[in-house]
Amino acid sequence: IAPRKMDLNEIVIAMREFLERIIGEDVVLSTTLSADKIPVLADSTQLEQVVMNLVSNARDAMPTGGTVSITTGQVHFDEHVLADGSVVSGFFALLKVSDTGVGISESMRERIFEPFFTTKAVGKGTGLGLSMAYGIIKQHSGWIDLESEIGQGSSFLIYLPVVGVSE
Ligand code: ADP
Ligand code: MG
Repeated sequence: IAPRKMDLNEIVIAMREFLERIIGEDVVLSTTLSADKIPVLADSTQLEQVVMNLVSNARDAMPTGGTVSITTGQVHFDEHVLADGSVVSGFFALLKVSDTGVGISESMRERIFEPFFTTKAVGKGTGLGLSMAYGIIKQHSGWIDLESEIGQGSSFLIYLPVVGVSE
């Protein structure tokens, strides 16, 4: 990856028009960006790829329309346990992509990040979007959390270290 210091909000702003086009007419895009800049070390092309994958999944989860919301912010963890058992602390940038779609069941949670896992028709999904997102965010020293409720929707939360902020 080719990381450089950038404002996480810039990525969302730069993608807005493109995202509007991929979600189509029945889905509303709502963006709520932090007032302050969020400095992260990132490969913008790869981060855009992640956001695009999450937003196209959100769209697919809302066949009759809905809202996809993108929110950015900074959070501080005193102690946060990741899925692999490791513990992180400090300031993190958060980029959250939420939808009002079908939701993700408990049993599917584990599998959706696996390469080639898809519930979509042949030709509609490769099953690579989330595994790619997972790998990219991991390479950026971040992680992805998932919150979901069946019939209510899902949120994918991307956390990245904030640069230039110390304890
Ligand atoms: P693909 O989109 O090609 O199927 P992904 O890796 O992007 O592959 O996603 C894997 C699977 O995870 C999807 O097929 C779908 O079942 C599920 N999924 C991903 N995002 C969402 C979402 N926002 N809402 C509901 N299900 C989702
Ligand atoms: Mg996908």
